[in-house]
Amino acid sequence: MINYISTRDPSHKVTSSKAILSGQAPDGGLYIPEDPESIRCDYHDIISGDFRSMAKAVWNIFFPEYGEERISELVERSYLNKFSSPAITPVVSVGDDYILELYHGPTSAFKDVALSALPNLLTAAREMNDFTDEIMILTATSGDTGSAALCGFGGVPGTRIVVFYPHGGVSETQRLQMVTAPGDNASACAIRGNFDDAQTSVKALFRAIPHPVSGVSLSSANSINIGRLVPQVVYYFSAYSQLLKAGKINDGDKIDFVVPTGNFGDIMAGWFALKMGLPVGKLICASNRNDVLTEFLETGHYDRRREFHKTTSPSMDILVSSNLERLLYYVCGAEHTREYMKALSECGEYTITESELSEIRSIFKGVCASDDEGAAAIRSVFDAEHYLMDTHTSIAWACKEKLGSSDAAATVVLSTASPYKFSRAVLEALGEELMESDEANMNRVFEVTGAPVPEGLAGIFSREIRSRDVIDIAEMKDYVIAKSK
Ligand SMILES: *Cc1c(COP(=O)(O)O)cnc(C)c1O
Repeated sequence: MINYISTRDPSHKVTSSKAILSGQAPDGGLYIPEDPESIRCDYHDIISGDFRSMAKAVWNIFFPEYGEERISELVERSYLNKFSSPAITPVVSVGDDYILELYHGPTSAFKDVALSALPNLLTAAREMNDFTDEIMILTATSGDTGSAALCGFGGVPGTRIVVFYPHGGVSETQRLQMVTAPGDNASACAIRGNFDDAQTSVKALFRAIPHPVSGVSLSSANSINIGRLVPQVVYYFSAYSQLLKAGKINDGDKIDFVVPTGNFGDIMAGWFALKMGLPVGKLICASNRNDVLTEFLETGHYDRRREFHKTTSPSMDILVSSNLERLLYYVCGAEHTREYMKALSECGEYTITESELSEIRSIFKGVCASDDEGAAAIRSVFDAEHYLMDTHTSIAWACKEKLGSSDAAATVVLSTASPYKFSRAVLEALGEELMESDEANMNRVFEVTGAPVPEGLAGIFSREIRSRDVIDIAEMKDYVIAKSK
């Protein structure tokens, strides 16, 4: 059976269901499989079936404690009829390269892949550990995570969810996605403050009221939970399988993945796929103007003491990429990881050793691109290929172009959002005039490009608004207590 350990203390060991239930280790570290060899397998055993059978195979390897029967049930519940593409994560051919579309879930962003799964893994973990409390999920969001989490947890028995977002700080589309989300156990609430205020206050609430009322305990849906990371490993296998079946690669060929990165969760899932035995060449970490990871992967120096830039790819506007800690553990060991994380929180920087850097660089490569370079990519790919990318995918595409040719048999760019989620920036990139409202911008993108509008987004402007709550930061605690009753 696989043990999960804390990245800061390998002697702290828990089962997979406990790791999923607690989210983060008590010492502040993240849970990871103790021995990466324990997840090694023959990739042929995984890639033969469809997405759901690949998900079952991958989850069984990481979470054997759940048992095959339960995993099969959980995977069906997570993915049956929730995604608008039968392949769940289809690969499309664009020019000489490929795009892995991860946004066909209910909220049109890649976080749906993991947040469709996490509530099911969590409620099963609750049963397996005879945990009787209801789980109250608290999330602060700058946009995308909130709607995917509301949608994933909405209506799931044994759970409730409250999402806090900055009042006036998210797009009209993102706000409507949250305030129209169904589910009697789900609430979205605007706070008078910015995203950092929301995030800091939510963290404080975890310490202040771990049990807001009796029989309810707080938990989090953010990407440090291993139950959110493992479901993302699946689409790397899915991409390989699709390219192989289409005759685009030969069995055993290595492929490169270009990943639009923020919190390093998505690309870390790619590293796990590689460790499992999938033939992966390079994992290319694409960043926007917030290029802290580009510098780190170039020099080994991580430095968050820099200006924070608001970009047109907001889900990648991150200076502390939490999931990098998982990679650090495997490459640098617990002692160095502890030192580096301490230095990061106390001084805002750390530097890994030469040999650690060269090990990381044997697999990862960091590249960054500006908003303008991303916009140019949206326009040129649309003009040449009639394929429309969103602002995050286009950063990854621009990074791939900067790198030039590769030894890999194929290069796959991960596409993390529907272009309709970011209609305004996409219209601007196409050189079109902007309309007044998000709804008009969305319609205009359709008129100009003919790209199909995702079902989940098309309806949000006419759906019933279920929450108009706007509160002060000081009121958050009482709000959570009220929603726990
Ligand atoms: C969250 C997100 C990302 C970044 O993913 P990480 O796992 O945080 O690296 C990229 N693009 C979009 C659209 C996202 O929502």
